[in-house]
Amino acid sequence: MVSLSFINPLSEEGQRIVKEKGDLNSIFSINEDLIDIVTHDQRQNIDDDSLIPKSYGYLAIKRIQWFIERKNNKNFINDDYSYLLNDEIAEFDVISFHLISQAIATNFNLNSREVRLFVESQGKLVEERLIKLMPQERKEIVNKILIQLIFEENISWTFLKDLVASKKISLTDLVLSNGKIILNKEDFIDRFGDKFKDRAPDRMYEIIIGDSIKELILTTMIMQNTENYLQKIKDMSSTIEIHPAISELAEEITKTISELSSKYSEFHGPSGQESYMKIGKLIKDAFPPCITNTVEGVSSGGRNDAIVLLLTSFVSYARLYPAIFKNEGVDVKVSDIDPNLNITLNEILPLIYEAANNCSPPLFDDQPQEKINITSKLGFGMHNDPDIENEGETTWYTPMSCEKIKMHLPQLCRPDKTCEKIGNPLSYYSRSKWQMQKEEKTKQAKETK
Ligand code: SF4
Repeated sequence: MVSLSFINPLSEEGQRIVKEKGDLNSIFSINEDLIDIVTHDQRQNIDDDSLIPKSYGYLAIKRIQWFIERKNNKNFINDDYSYLLNDEIAEFDVISFHLISQAIATNFNLNSREVRLFVESQGKLVEERLIKLMPQERKEIVNKILIQLIFEENISWTFLKDLVASKKISLTDLVLSNGKIILNKEDFIDRFGDKFKDRAPDRMYEIIIGDSIKELILTTMIMQNTENYLQKIKDMSSTIEIHPAISELAEEITKTISELSSKYSEFHGPSGQESYMKIGKLIKDAFPPCITNTVEGVSSGGRNDAIVLLLTSFVSYARLYPAIFKNEGVDVKVSDIDPNLNITLNEILPLIYEAANNCSPPLFDDQPQEKINITSKLGFGMHNDPDIENEGETTWYTPMSCEKIKMHLPQLCRPDKTCEKIGNPLSYYSRSKWQMQKEEKTKQAKETK
């Protein structure tokens, strides 16, 4: 049977493996045993040497790389990472899990994209590893791990309240009876057996609860425990010296995530256009009339909303995440694209503050508290300045649509020809930027003839 620590690296078995075999001095040393397992995996693609992790450290990086590629790459090839679902790597995998935990917890904020990606990747690995098991083995493993995780037979939903509060699990996914979560077939039949007139209760158990809810709880609890583990390491890290190899691993993880983030933050131009654009410096000449009017300063009514709601959201998304409307439903934070907030502090905020100063009267002269509202609309809570520590306290406000602007700030909307083809200022910006690049290319082509 597959090792329990392959699914739950925080199990006692996992802790024992780390104690016995984890060695910080060998994080980046070539590990022939690992290479042997990976290259002998029947499905693994071995044509490209860069696909093979050769040390614990690179296995750790591959785990994150797998998750980002799998989520974003339309041409993702499972066989490039087949070994990650092969339980023969269990011991290596457990050690690499603990290494990433240390690297991430000691170098990044708990709200950071690195933490989020790691926790989500762990959840996805659990799901995929369970899917690969034979049905009977899958059932047994899930039951064993749930017993380890839960300790008692009847869990009250309050036991999972943190998971419900964080929206990782929904109460509607659970079957409750008098505040207790029903997971066992016997409990279900005992409690609800007489309610089904025309159907067998055990069949109804399979339909209503079955194994899917157990697996959902298991996966969610492992993700939550991973977060708790990171918090524990972070709390302890102030009293211990960080091993240089852990810092090196953290740097490699950041590099990998940044490269992949920029690779997948490309977005396609308006439909029918073949080329694509990457996020880049703000181009004021491509701003739509409503934004240009705001940047020049608002003197009539609506000054505060123009700066805090319209301009803040427009400038931040235009600079950091112009593909927002193409990727609706994807949860993105400013630090996912701007991890050190360099762009936010040096490009986005100066433009917003300059526009605030151009207003009549200047916005912060009579309402300095609006700085807090700007910070809040960027997702950094109710504070004077954005700080990575506060990210997630509020939500990154999405850009207003033309319809909303026309309704709330009609004095700023002075539509031109491009406005006829779009529904929000961000689309205007993308379209005009694309048009400008196209014109530039045509000009260059003419000049070289
Ligand atoms: S139509 Fe939209 S993009 Fe154009 S000026 Fe009005 S609000 Fe701005």
